[in-house]
Amino acid sequence: MRPSLPALGFAIALSCMPPAQAGSATAPPPAHASSATSPAVLSVGRSADSKAQPPLTALTKDSGTPEPAEQKRVHFDHAELHIAVHPDTQSIDGKATLDFSVLETTDVLLVDLDRNLPVSAVSVDGQPLPASAWRNPEGRLRIQLPHAVAKGGKLSATIVYGGKPHVAKMAPWDGGFVWSHTKDGQPWVGSAVEGEGCDLFWPCVDQPDGKPDLVDLYVTVPKPLAAPGNGVLIGVSDEGNTRTWHWRAKHPTTYAISINVGPYQELKGEYKSRYGNTIPLQYWYIAGEEEKAKQLFAEFPHMLDFFEAKIGPYPWGDEKMGVVETPYEGMEHQTINAYGNHYAKDGNGFDWLLQHEFSHEWFGNQMTNANWDDMWLHEGFATLMQPLYARYLDGDAAYYAWLVRLREIIGNRYPVVSGQPRTEEAVYDDSRGGPGQDIYNKGAMMLQTLHHLIGDKAFYDSIRELVYGRPDPKPGNFVPQYRTTADYMRIVDQVTGKKLDWFFKVYLYQAALPKLDVQRHGDTLDLRWQVTGDLPFPMPVEVQVDDAVHTVAMADGHGSLAVPADALVTIDPHSVLLRDEPRITEYQQWMRQQRAQRKAAQK
Ligand SMILES: [Zn+2]
Repeated sequence: MRPSLPALGFAIALSCMPPAQAGSATAPPPAHASSATSPAVLSVGRSADSKAQPPLTALTKDSGTPEPAEQKRVHFDHAELHIAVHPDTQSIDGKATLDFSVLETTDVLLVDLDRNLPVSAVSVDGQPLPASAWRNPEGRLRIQLPHAVAKGGKLSATIVYGGKPHVAKMAPWDGGFVWSHTKDGQPWVGSAVEGEGCDLFWPCVDQPDGKPDLVDLYVTVPKPLAAPGNGVLIGVSDEGNTRTWHWRAKHPTTYAISINVGPYQELKGEYKSRYGNTIPLQYWYIAGEEEKAKQLFAEFPHMLDFFEAKIGPYPWGDEKMGVVETPYEGMEHQTINAYGNHYAKDGNGFDWLLQHEFSHEWFGNQMTNANWDDMWLHEGFATLMQPLYARYLDGDAAYYAWLVRLREIIGNRYPVVSGQPRTEEAVYDDSRGGPGQDIYNKGAMMLQTLHHLIGDKAFYDSIRELVYGRPDPKPGNFVPQYRTTADYMRIVDQVTGKKLDWFFKVYLYQAALPKLDVQRHGDTLDLRWQVTGDLPFPMPVEVQVDDAVHTVAMADGHGSLAVPADALVTIDPHSVLLRDEPRITEYQQWMRQQRAQRKAAQK
């Protein structure tokens, strides 16, 4: 991701990854996770080519909105992608056959593709087109069809392209290809394109809802390298000096289709699900750390079991739970999660990065935001899963310790949801009014407040409905869902039988947190919510008076309680209310000052 301005000295710019560990004393931040604005970080490059490469157009650099009406005339049925990866020249040769159902009569086909990967041939329904029939001035390939295809018809286009794909400056945050080497000098290659989108290396519909129904991915690599991929391995063919790995994946998220090349070893196993199915487990790792690899692999079934018990069936049980070691931190590549956490230990007893990325199989891949404006649906839920997992493993202290770290790095500069279509980068970029890291931390903390407000059953019922579109998911009875914030608000109302839009309007659509004004006069405690725009906020407040806990209803945003003058009073004794708290604001300000002073001293 493009480096964004961290709210605090210890906050880092993150793409798919949560900042929970960034400020933690017990967990060292990732290797390059210092201030994202530091020149040292900006100069990190995986290859000398990354400095010299041609720039991306604005269209290619962003993923998402606006999608031209002409592109919406078709539904993406199938992508057959043949990609030959050449580590020696840091280039690819691609041939993509894309099949569409025509929803509205069309005489053009528009697919997104980085113009730095020139197209050499296009054919439609097997018929080669003259070069004059296509153009790609700004990263959206426009193909003039030989004749219009009527609504209800089918359309198949084959596009031959190739060149040097964009090199990531700092994957996964500033994405592209990562051309790296193992310690013994063998090629180690990966792709991570969440921010910029699929169009960095294949012709696609670069929108969150642009998923093809099915993808066949053929990756050709020099021997003896392997190419782990999305979905199921259909076969490996041998062409002499190269081998081609054929993978097939159903409904892959556009940015989750990935290229992984390296001298991989494989650990394999099986997981017997509580839903009766058996899920293949695969971990592709770089040789040299077998014991650590085995330890990480041993975590897979525990993570699966937790998610299946709390959320529901693993969405891709008939494909695999797959993980591949990558030369960058991590990314939620569907059924082939990227892992680059170097087997770090942090006192949590589990690999938080793997657990976070794996949670995206539910929150991101099975349930996908309809527009990037709703991206907290991916990251807020995914970030909450680490403290919940920590509590399952080790109890309340682990859970609350995690929440404290999240709370301390909430920025509250802009609303989490704007209500307008936005690109992925605009959401991440808090200098452009985006919520930035709040989609993770504020999203997760808001959800923990909701959890307490509506109770355990309604909370998990709402998640199941959100993720699967039904209350009783079982393997084979659900399909991927595109979701909006409004969908989740409607679902929460539906499962609780209450009208709770006031809750989301304040936490998601306002930048500032609600503040609780507390006054004690004699033997009366007065409580009043203060909310931007005086929006309704009837959030009940628990108050502990000596040994007894009372709940103040706050029906119209205020309430009072009789307390003996000498009683000890604690507001919100179970720490469930996400609210403006001076102690945290003061701490954040102090941290900012410390950082500025350190910076000044370095000059
Ligand atoms: Zn994430």
